[in-house]
Amino acid sequence: AKQILLAKRPKGMPTLENFKFQEIDVPEPALNEVLIKTLYVSVDPYMRGRMSDRESYVPPFELHKVISGGVVGEVIESKSPDFNKGDFVVGQLGWQTYQLVQSEEIRKIDENLAPITAHLGVLGMPGLTAYFGMLDIGQPKNGETVVISGAAGAVGSTAGQIAKIKGARVIGIAGTKEKLSFLKNELGFDEVINYKEYDVYKQLKNACPNGIDVYFDNVGGEISDAVMKQINHQARIVICGQISLYNLEKADVGPRPQTQLVIKSALMKGYIVSDYASQFKDAAEELAQWMQAGQIKYRETIIEGFERIPEAFLGLFKGDNIGKYLVKI
Ligand code: NDP
Repeated sequence: AKQILLAKRPKGMPTLENFKFQEIDVPEPALNEVLIKTLYVSVDPYMRGRMSDRESYVPPFELHKVISGGVVGEVIESKSPDFNKGDFVVGQLGWQTYQLVQSEEIRKIDENLAPITAHLGVLGMPGLTAYFGMLDIGQPKNGETVVISGAAGAVGSTAGQIAKIKGARVIGIAGTKEKLSFLKNELGFDEVINYKEYDVYKQLKNACPNGIDVYFDNVGGEISDAVMKQINHQARIVICGQISLYNLEKADVGPRPQTQLVIKSALMKGYIVSDYASQFKDAAEELAQWMQAGQIKYRETIIEGFERIPEAFLGLFKGDNIGKYLVKI
C-alpha cells in the first residue's frame, strides 16, 4: 500500500516538501480488524494545525508517521462481526491506499441515504460544524441578517443554507466570481461579496442596510474587522475558523473587537464540532432530511489520484475548491 507521511513541519504556508510518500505491506486482518480500501480522502483546513507541534484540541501529527484525516473506504476483508466485505465505511483513517483498522475506528454508511462522499461533507464533520455553529451559537431568527465568511466552502455553504431555512437574509463572502455565482444562483444566498475585488466594508454596508445580527466566521483577519464594525445590538459572532491566519508566521494584530462587543452587548463564541458529539446522530438526520427536501444543496470539488492529496490540501489555502474538497483514490 502507498502512504503519505509528515516529512517535516511547515513554517508558514506548507509546501509539497512537508509530505513524503512510502510503500508498505499490509498484513492480513487479525480478530476484530478490517482491511479497508480507501476510496475518498477529505482534505480539511484544521489539518494545518496538526502539522505544527503545538498544543491544540487534537494532538499534532507525528513526524515520519502517516497523516490521518476523514476517509471513506470499502471493506475488502473483515474479521469483525460488525462489518462485511463490500460495506462502505467512514472514519478518521490514514492517508493510505489500503489499511488495517480496528472495528471501533470506522462507522458503516448507508449508500442509499446519500452518495457516500456526502459523509465527508454535508452529512459529516463539515455539515455538523455548520449545523451546531449556526443553530446553537448563531441562532438566526426570521428576518435577521447573517454574514458568512469563507461562504463557498464545505462549512460556509451549509451554514448559509441553514440560516436561510431559519428565515434569515444571508450574505456570503468568498474569493471568486464562480463561487459568488454558486452561492447566489444555486444556493439562494441573498447577496454575495468578492473580498478579493472590492472593499469588504463598503460592500457590506450596501448589502446589510439593517446591520449584521449573526456573523459566522470561517476566515478571521481583515474580513472580520470589516464585519465587526457593522454588528447590531445583541449580535452573535460564531468563531468557527480563522483560515486567513493559519499560515502566518507572526501573530496577527488588528483592531481589537472587545469594545465593539461591549457597546453592542454582543456574543462572540468559539467551538469545536466535537463539543456536540452526543448530538451528532440527530443533527445528521436533520441535515439528511433538509438535503432530501432540497433545502440544503451541496457541491464537491473532487480531484483524482492518491499522489495528489498534498496538492489538494495546499489548494484549500489558495481557494481551489468550491464546496467540499475531496480526493478520489
Ligand atoms: P473550505 O471548504 O471553506 O476551504 C477553505 C476555503 O477558505 C478556501 O476555498 C478559500 O476560499 C478560503 N480561504 C483560504 N485562505 C483564505 C484567506 N487567506 N482569506 C479568506 N479566505 C480564505 O474549508 P472548510 O469548510 O472545511 O472549513 C472552513 C473553516 O471552518 C476553516 O476555518 C476551518 O478551520 C473551520 N472548521 C472549524 C471546525 C470547528 O470545529 N470549529 C470544524 C471544521 C472546520 P476563497 O476562494 O473564498 O478564499
